[in-house]
Amino acid sequence: MSDPFELFAIRLGHADRPARDNFLNGPAREGTMRLDFDMWLARNDERIVAIDSGFSAEAGSRRGRTLERSPEEAVRGLGIDPRAVTDVVVTHLHYDHAGNLDLFPAARIWVQQAEVAYVTSDAMRHPELNHFFEADDVCSLLQQSFKGRVNQVAGQATVAEGVELHLIGGHTPGLQVVRVLTRRGWVVVASDALHYYENFERRNPFPGIVNVPQMMDGYDRILQLAPDVDHIVPGHDPQVMERYAEDSAQLPDGIVALHHDPTEG
Ligand SMILES: [Zn+2]
Repeated sequence: MSDPFELFAIRLGHADRPARDNFLNGPAREGTMRLDFDMWLARNDERIVAIDSGFSAEAGSRRGRTLERSPEEAVRGLGIDPRAVTDVVVTHLHYDHAGNLDLFPAARIWVQQAEVAYVTSDAMRHPELNHFFEADDVCSLLQQSFKGRVNQVAGQATVAEGVELHLIGGHTPGLQVVRVLTRRGWVVVASDALHYYENFERRNPFPGIVNVPQMMDGYDRILQLAPDVDHIVPGHDPQVMERYAEDSAQLPDGIVALHHDPTEG
């Protein structure tokens, strides 16, 4: 039986956006909401698992997004050499989650078959659909595949004892959440199956969606996978940094420990 994992959320950048852009259904919200760009990392004595890999500096600047810290700086901030990362889970291939794959030369990459099928399909001829993705990230994934380093999975899979993948879909066809066994039990890194706690509380999803029923079913699925809402980590909510700040004071700014209990939201 291997040790439970330490699990961290790492903020790579942020942006302010109109609040109404964050909810599919009305009534429209006034004002702005901050959107954080995060990645996550799980480690125990045997494995170091990066969950997503942020966006590249080049793609970020082209899209007007500034990196507060690169994924390399973030990983090193935890005292980890990127070459020691054993696995990279790509929750989905959107540009802000799937850049920089070559940063982890020794890692096995985990992605859903449905996601790869989508980004290599004819649907990508539409700018309205392909602008969420970077062709370079897709090419990088395929290059890693040719090196035998990619595990394409379908549905549920186990990366290591205590790290599980679960296909949700909805946001993208192959969106997967990651369930990590920590000392406080299973914690679900929801990534973009859930952007904000508020999307979940109001059952009002973030509008970036390919399949609304799958998105809504995904909320129920995430709740089945986690003991309660305190064990669910949304993908872009600044509240993550606040709720887990108390037990993360010894960590670099912008990194919090998810294996500790959060404070009240
Ligand atoms: Zn996304």
